[in-house]
Amino acid sequence: MTRALILGGTADANQLAEALAHVGLDAIYSYGGRTRAPAGQPLPTRIGGFGGVAGLAEYIRQEGITHVIDATHPFAAEMSRNAVAACAETGTPLIAVERAPWARTPGDTWIEVADIASAVAALPENRARVFLAIGRQHIAPFGARPQHAYTLRFVDPPEGALPFDANVIVSRGPFTLDGELEMMQARGIEWVVARNSGGDGARAKIDAARALGLPVIMLSRPQLPERPRMDNVADALQWLGHRTCLGA
Ligand code: NAP
Repeated sequence: MTRALILGGTADANQLAEALAHVGLDAIYSYGGRTRAPAGQPLPTRIGGFGGVAGLAEYIRQEGITHVIDATHPFAAEMSRNAVAACAETGTPLIAVERAPWARTPGDTWIEVADIASAVAALPENRARVFLAIGRQHIAPFGARPQHAYTLRFVDPPEGALPFDANVIVSRGPFTLDGELEMMQARGIEWVVARNSGGDGARAKIDAARALGLPVIMLSRPQLPERPRMDNVADALQWLGHRTCLGA
């Protein structure tokens, strides 16, 4: 009997949950617990960390999980590394559902960097208006460049003080090209800092930056251990031994 665990929090994970519910496959959806009111799922859902590799291995055993699908955000590296280790420990088949990263296209001005410290260092010396489109847990190092006027965008309003002065937009998305163009023009954005998430859900800001001729400091994806990867939900479903009429 198949009993799948989806490590979620992304549009792909949500689409996969819908597909699994549609075919009636036994599965559990797991959220990391970063957003206050995560989207409802058509599957039984759990929220919060497992307690590292040991905690996840224990969870897999206790719940009788037969397959793990890591559909987390490509920058959720700790969760992905833990999944590789816990699945190796328990002998549980694992795949990652991961969209290809965005590729530079004509008109893009990207400065590709490997980590947050390099992104901070790549900002100009002179004051600029910067759209910092990265997760809230990564913004603190930008306090080293307090001369800039930062715009941040979060799903939930920030709890407590931010590590530096910033304008905060609270919005869950998805974001359209027109919406991103309007936001960037209204705020006079001059630089964008983004993670190379890939997929369509987050790319409007990159298209808008290109259209406006803005430089993008693009964080490359973290290095992860080798694991089988699929770039669409239909293939993941097939891996679980099911077919669906839902598109990828
Ligand atoms: P991370 O740094 O890799 O994870 C840190 C810890 O959080 C993990 O070790 C694990 O704790 C817990 N965790 C993360 N994802 C989890 C999940 N799906 N289920 C249960 N526990 C989870 O991850 P992150 O970058 O903070 O991202 C956290 C979550 O937000 C991920 O699920 C990711 O998919 C989602 N996210 C979505 C977007 C988006 O644009 N849709 C963007 C960023 C993040 P333990 O070690 O205690 O198990």
